Amino acid sequence: MALAVKPHAPEITEPDPDNSVGIDMGSRFFATLSDCTQLESFNKHLDGIDRRISLLHKKLDRSLPGSSNRAKLVKKLALMYKRKSDIKRDRMHKYSTKIVRGHDVIVAEDLQIKNITKSAKGTVHKPGKNNKVKSTLNRMNLNESWGEFFRQVGYKMKLKGGVFVQVHPKNTSRTCPKCGCISKKNRSSQPVFKCVSCGYSANADVNAACNILRAGRLLMALQGSKNLLDPANNQRSTDARASTKIRDQSSDQAPQK
Ligand SMILES: [Zn+2]
Repeated sequence: MALAVKPHAPEITEPDPDNSVGIDMGSRFFATLSDCTQLESFNKHLDGIDRRISLLHKKLDRSLPGSSNRAKLVKKLALMYKRKSDIKRDRMHKYSTKIVRGHDVIVAEDLQIKNITKSAKGTVHKPGKNNKVKSTLNRMNLNESWGEFFRQVGYKMKLKGGVFVQVHPKNTSRTCPKCGCISKKNRSSQPVFKCVSCGYSANADVNAACNILRAGRLLMALQGSKNLLDPANNQRSTDARASTKIRDQSSDQAPQK
């Protein structure tokens, strides 16, 4: 006779606000965490597929409409695009699971706002005159990946009972955590942050991730962390996006270390 095994109820623990991390999304690295962890970009794993896709497109352009060769090429292309998206999704699942497992509170930038900021010279749908098509496409790819990554982090945190907060991206890469100086010149080179006012220097991506975490903590403090940390209100992980206007105050203040 088979015995019914009663499953153990999962142990419910309160999210620990101190176990938090900020994430800075990038192109050199897929993401950098405030604890200095850098997640490798997976573009190099896609290079071979991208080359094959571009070759297939060229062949498709030369093929006769309605021919069996064209039909074969279309099928091959669809397969390549699927393979590419599978690799990306798989890699992002690995990253999002790792970060969610290790933290109770995750803070990232608001992607929708970032889209507007980053495409200021021309929107994704209507590129500015000086924007190269390629860089626009790269940006679209990045945004698409970041959007999927945040979606994964959001629902995994919800399942875990943790908190995912998104903050306004303004000045996160330009702010000095030591003296509060906000300047474009603080970021004179891509990898290094060097404050023009006090001389503080750090890895630019880690510095941005720390600023993002700080903005998230401030947002939670202003909103009442109890409210954000209550699993019943966990919808607020996305709602927090709507309330990130509060961050406008935080970005204009000297950040505290
Ligand atoms: Zn400084």
